[in-house]
Amino acid sequence: MVRNSYYKCDFCDCTVRFRSQIGAFNIPINVYCPKCNCHISGVIDIGDDPQSIREHVIGASEIESDEAEYTLELSTEFLVDKCKKNSKSDKPELTMFLRSGPLDEKRTERRVELLTFVRDADYCINTIENLYNLLENDDVDLIRKYFLESSNGFVNSFRENIDYNKVINKLDAMLAVKHFVNSLLTPLMPEGVFRKLYDIMNVKVRGIVQSHTSAFMDFLKQLDGDSVEAYLYRIPKFIVDYIKVVGQLIPLYDNYSKFDSIDLNKSGISTMSVDEMVVIYKKGYELLCDSIDLIVALNNISHHGTYDNFGCGKVDFDKKLNGYPSKYVKYQEVTNNDYDLFDGLRGKLNNIIRNAEGHNSIRIDGLNQNITFTNKRKGNVDTYTISFLEFGKNCIDLFVAILHIWEFYYQTIKFKSVFIDEMTLNYGK
Ligand SMILES: [Zn+2]
Repeated sequence: MVRNSYYKCDFCDCTVRFRSQIGAFNIPINVYCPKCNCHISGVIDIGDDPQSIREHVIGASEIESDEAEYTLELSTEFLVDKCKKNSKSDKPELTMFLRSGPLDEKRTERRVELLTFVRDADYCINTIENLYNLLENDDVDLIRKYFLESSNGFVNSFRENIDYNKVINKLDAMLAVKHFVNSLLTPLMPEGVFRKLYDIMNVKVRGIVQSHTSAFMDFLKQLDGDSVEAYLYRIPKFIVDYIKVVGQLIPLYDNYSKFDSIDLNKSGISTMSVDEMVVIYKKGYELLCDSIDLIVALNNISHHGTYDNFGCGKVDFDKKLNGYPSKYVKYQEVTNNDYDLFDGLRGKLNNIIRNAEGHNSIRIDGLNQNITFTNKRKGNVDTYTISFLEFGKNCIDLFVAILHIWEFYYQTIKFKSVFIDEMTLNYGK
C-alpha cells in the first residue's frame, strides 16, 4: 500500500509530497530538502493497523494540501526514485514494491530476517556489549552461566547443540562468545560472507599453521598479546555502532549482489542519514588501517617464509610498517597485490572522505542524492563526489572487511593461547 502526505520544509518553505511504501515495519525517514538540502528526519510508525499510522517528521511540517512542488518516496526496504519535480503531465507511478523486481522467495526471506533483526536490535547491542565486557574482565563463570541459564530464544536454540559446561577458561569463553555473536550477526552479512569467514577460520589460517609451522610459531612468540587482544574488544564496539545504523541500509542489502545493475541516475534511498553514515565510515576506516598489520604478517609467512620478510629478505617489521607517510598510504600499498589474504580488504578506503571534517567540507545535494567531500590542505583542494547509494554500499563493504579482519585476529589469538600460553581448549571439542 502506498500512502501520500504533504509537507513544507521548515527552512525554505518548499512543498513535498511524501509517497510512502507501507509494509509491516516502521519506516525511518532520512531525506534532504530538494531546494535547500536541509535534513528532514523522522519515522513513520506503522502501529497495529492502517488507521493507527503516525508520522513523526522533524525539519518539515505537515500541510493540508493535495499537491506539492516535489515528490519524495519513502521506503524502509526498497530503493526509491530520487526526488522528482512534479508536473501536471506526470504519469501514474508503480509502487516501490512493484518496481523492486519479481518476487523472489529467498530474497524476501533475507529482507524480512534483516528487518526483524533491526526491530530487535536492542537485544543484540546489549548482549554483545555485556558479553565482551565480561570477557575483558575475565568473568568466565558469568559467561558460562549466561549461556547455560538465559531464557533468551537465541541462547535457547544454541543450547540444544552445544555443551556450555565446557566453557571453563578464558579461551573457551572467547570462542563461545565469538561463535554466538557471529550467529547473531548472520542477517547483517551479505550473501556469501558467512562462507568466507568460515574459509578464513578453517582453511586460510589453518593452512598457514600447517605448512609454515615453525615460522608461525616464531611469529606468535614475538606477538604482543595485549595489543592483539585489544582488537577483540575494539571491533565489537564498532559492530555495535554499525548495528545502531544498519536499519538505514536495508534497501542496499536487498540489492547488494546486483549493485552494479542499479541505475544510479534514477534510484535512491530514503532512510540513510549521511552524517551518521560518515561517522561510521570514519570509525571503520581507522579500525581497518590500524588492524592491517596482522594480515601483512600472516601474508609474509604464507608467501615469503617469515612474518618479517616482505619479499626482499628479512627487515624490522614494525620499522617497515611505521615508515609509510600515513596509515592510508600504508594500507593502500600493502593491500595492492593479488594475495588472497587481502581479498575483501583491497580498495575499501577513501582518504578524502576520511579527512573531510565539519559541515562546509561535506556538501549534500538532496535533489540528486550526491555527497561531495572536500579536503583543503597546503593550498590544495581535493574533492570527491559520490552518490548516497554508493556511499552506503561502501559502509557495508567496510563492515564486511572488518568482520574478515576480526576472524583473522580470533584465529591468531586462539593459536597463541594454545601453542604459546599452553591453555587447554575445551569449547568446541
Ligand atoms: Zn528546504
